[in-house]
Formats: sequence, structure tokens, C-alpha cells
Amino acid sequence: MPRPVEPEAALGAGFVHTFLPGRVVFGAGALDRVATEVEALGVRRVLVIATNSARAAADVVEAQLGDLFAGRIDGVAQHVPTEVAEDARAKAREAGADAVVAIGGGSAIGLAKAIALTTAAPPASEAVDGRAVVVVAVPTTYAGSEMTPVWGETTDGRKSTGTDVRVLPRVVVYDSVLSRELPLKVTAASVANAIAHCVEAVWTPKADPITELTAVEGLRALSNGMRDVLRAPGDLDARSNLLYGACLAGSALATAGTGLHHKLCHLLGGTYNLPHAETHAAVLPQVARVNASSVPQAKTRLEAALGTTDLAGGLFDLFQAAGVPTSLRELGLTEAQVAEATAAFKPTDNPIPVTEDLVREILTRAWSGTRP
Ligand code: NAD
Repeated sequence: MPRPVEPEAALGAGFVHTFLPGRVVFGAGALDRVATEVEALGVRRVLVIATNSARAAADVVEAQLGDLFAGRIDGVAQHVPTEVAEDARAKAREAGADAVVAIGGGSAIGLAKAIALTTAAPPASEAVDGRAVVVVAVPTTYAGSEMTPVWGETTDGRKSTGTDVRVLPRVVVYDSVLSRELPLKVTAASVANAIAHCVEAVWTPKADPITELTAVEGLRALSNGMRDVLRAPGDLDARSNLLYGACLAGSALATAGTGLHHKLCHLLGGTYNLPHAETHAAVLPQVARVNASSVPQAKTRLEAALGTTDLAGGLFDLFQAAGVPTSLRELGLTEAQVAEATAAFKPTDNPIPVTEDLVREILTRAWSGTRP
């Protein structure tokens, strides 16, 4: 198993980091800048996708787009079911869309990515490369999908994922006003999802010093933002901190990829239909407990960012304080399913060998919600 190389050692040993292209527009009220950003891409016909809670924001964007507006999809489904994706692709073709603006969480952005993956823009489009439909993302949660070239689609209950730079949003507009009303429960789970991107980014096989810098700063912003939002849910500075952290977390995921933690969550979510964001909160402290000591420098930096001297325990305490479930039992998993999932899990690259005993230990503790 390749062991992740810690920053100082990596400078001598060498490393590879890919910077992904993309533009970030950040600020309270930045929604007003979406149409200007879209026009600057040289596109002609824009489809707007909005999650239900973002309909008012989509109305604003629709009005701003004027003649560029070519159609709208309201309401999205979790995990991009193929039927929903097919309808959206048909709508994009009918509208002759060469761009999609997605306003919402990972589900809305996921649907835009599904269009971009398989739909060619009309030949007359002046869009930057004139081939794929261009995605502009306006995230309203902290899942981070807007910063990644990762797509996902679910057919007959099985989720396939892949990486394709065509789905990477060309522009991301972060507006803290849009997430001010995100309920605390959804906020906390979404932050746990983003924190998982930051923590795992230091030990995946593709971890590198530049990604680690991003991930550590992401964890600092997310944990501070979470504590502040718990005190004042509508505070725009706190919401901005969370969006900034989400942006960094998504960037870290985009370059470091996934490892043991995300693969376990993927298995549990896909097989037992557990809620995506909440599953991260139950599993991450347990994976950190077994993995973190094999990347001691990164562990110390993450601990400083979190304001703790015990990464796994500190994560667990933050999630508990935020009111997000820290046990898989609370999410509806049974003990028998823990045994089944343990047997089904395929070993993956990890700083310490992934044996069946290790997976059982992680899942059993995550099931009962035992503090690491
Ligand atoms: P989501 O988009 O389903 O949103 C969660 C809930 O929040 C929904 O009920 C939604 O209606 C509501 N909501 C969204 N914005 C709101 C707002 N501003 N105010 C009130 N309610 C609001 O879920 P998510 O957690 O954002 O994303 C999860 C999905 O994203 C999963 O399918 C996951 O696999 C995917 N994901 C993909 C990547 C990637 O890189 N491709 C990364 C992270 C997550």
C-alpha cells in the first residue's frame, strides 16, 4: 500500500498536483452577478435548474438572463436517478441549451453535471470549447460538488460515479445569503460532509502538500463557521465561513480523490439507502481514529485547525454539538447489516492495511456511536 507522503518529505521525494480550471465569485449578494458571469462565457441558451428551496433565487436569475434564458427545471432528486437525468437531458436538447445554471445543493449540481456529461452543445454555440454544455453552479449547501469534476448517477438503486473534466463547473458563484435559511439540521450534516473531504484529503494515495494546505484551511473555516452558526444561524459572516470552507473542501476532494472513509460511506449509502451527509458524521471520527496517526504532521495541523489535541474525538464532539447523528444505528442501520457491509467491503489503498477486522472495528464503533 502506498503511504501518503507528508509535506516536508514530499518536497524531497517529489509530488504531482493538478490545478483544475474554474472561476470562483464569492460574496453576500453575489447572486446578482450570475447573469454577467454567464454572458462572459459566450453562451446563448441557458437552462436553469433549481432545488425546491431555491425557486426564488432561480426567479431572480431567470429575470437577469433575459434573452439567454431557455428553460427551467424546478425540483431535483437525491443521487441523480437516471430517469430524472434522462428527462433533464431531453429538456436541455429541446431548449438547445449550451449552458446550465444549477442553484441548490449537491443534488441540483449533480443533475447539471449529468447533462454536461452526455449532452453536446449545439454546433453554433460560442461556448468556450463548443462541445460540452457548460455548467455554472450556485451552491446553497456545503457538500462541495461545485468544485469537483466528479459525477454520479443512480440506475436501479446502484450509483455509478466517475471523473470527467467536462462536468467541472466553469464558474461557481457563492452567495452566503442563499444558505442563511438552510435549516440547522441540514447545515450540520452538510458541514460534516465537507469536513470529511478535508480530513480524508491528507491520507488518500493522491494526497499532496498543496491539497493538504487547502484541506487544513477548509477544516478551520468549517469548524469555526459551524460553531458560529450554532450560536446565530442567520449570521452572514458565519455562513460565509462555511461556504469558504465548502469551496476548499470541494477543491481538496477534487485533487486528492477519495479513500477508505468515502468508500465506506458510498457502500453504506448505496446499499442501505442511508442519508449521504449524515453517514459521514458517524463514520469519519472512527476512520480518523485508526488512520490519523499514520500521517502525524497532517494530524497535528488538522488538530490545530479544529482547536483540539485529539482529531478523532474533536470531530466526534463537534458533530455531537451540532446535533448531527454520530451513530449509524440512529440512521436506521441494523447490526446484521454491519456484518454484511463488513464482508462486502473491498480493500482499498490506505496508510494502514484494510483488513476485515479493521472494517468491522470501524463500522461497529460507527454503528453504536462510541466516542473515539
Ligand atoms: P441536496 O442537494 O439533496 O440538499 C439537501 C437538502 O437541502 C435538500 O432537501 C434541499 O432541498 C435542501 N436545501 C438545499 N439548499 C437549501 C437552502 N438554501 N435552504 C433550505 N433548504 C435547502 O444534498 P447535498 O447534501 O447538498 O448533496 C448531496 C449529494 O451531492 C449526494 O448525492 C452526493 O453524492 C453528492 N455529492 C457529490 C459530490 C461530487 O463531487 N460530485 C461531492 C459531494 C456530494
